Amino acid sequence: MSYKSVIAVIALVSAVFACKSNNNTTDNPSGITFSQKELMILNQSDSVMYLTVIGDKSDSLILRKTSRDFTDEELQSKEFQTLARNLLATVQDPSQDGVGISAPQVGLNLRMIAVMRYDKEDKPIEPYANVHITDYSKTIKSGPEGCLSVPNYRGIVPRSDSIIVSYYDINSKTAKTDTIGGYTAIIFQHETDHLEGILYIDRADSVFFNQKSADERKLFEQQGAYTKPAWWPYK
Ligand code: ZN
Repeated sequence: MSYKSVIAVIALVSAVFACKSNNNTTDNPSGITFSQKELMILNQSDSVMYLTVIGDKSDSLILRKTSRDFTDEELQSKEFQTLARNLLATVQDPSQDGVGISAPQVGLNLRMIAVMRYDKEDKPIEPYANVHITDYSKTIKSGPEGCLSVPNYRGIVPRSDSIIVSYYDINSKTAKTDTIGGYTAIIFQHETDHLEGILYIDRADSVFFNQKSADERKLFEQQGAYTKPAWWPYK
């Protein structure tokens, strides 16, 4: 074997090892890394999912954890499509009636949110995956916020006026970056905070009880809403 071919073989062998060590999904070559508990929630939920609340101990552990990005393979999975659909169904259900929602609120520490686009015609609620806010404007304004996971309360929260957000666009299946302002930017900040384990009450200048939303919630509760499913994997 010539000197040059020895070098070539060494280069080839190290390239193979480099590939292997860079591939952190060797346990599962398909790149689907959902845990068994995540798969239970992804596959067993009805279209309106159970919504985690801060007053429940196992729920609060999920709400306080950092969420991870979906892998490329997971972005193409049927579970991903189901979650996008179910998040929309959950936030729009009359028992929730929110302007935004995040995956930790349905028990999953995965980077997906849905946001009502006040800056678009007909104000659609749209899902976004692998969301990261890459820039916050220095101009701060305070305004009222509530959270589906902190029922019956509202607060006054300071937020940046505009943001730059990067995400995976579910419709075009491409990575995108947008500059967003106004109330839509507030919702993006609130929902992206959820992906970092942050709740609006951590940032609020003041938090207060809201009797009207407590009365409404009681009515839905009497009809069986908000009950944790018997099969829920976190006790
Ligand atoms: Zn929230």
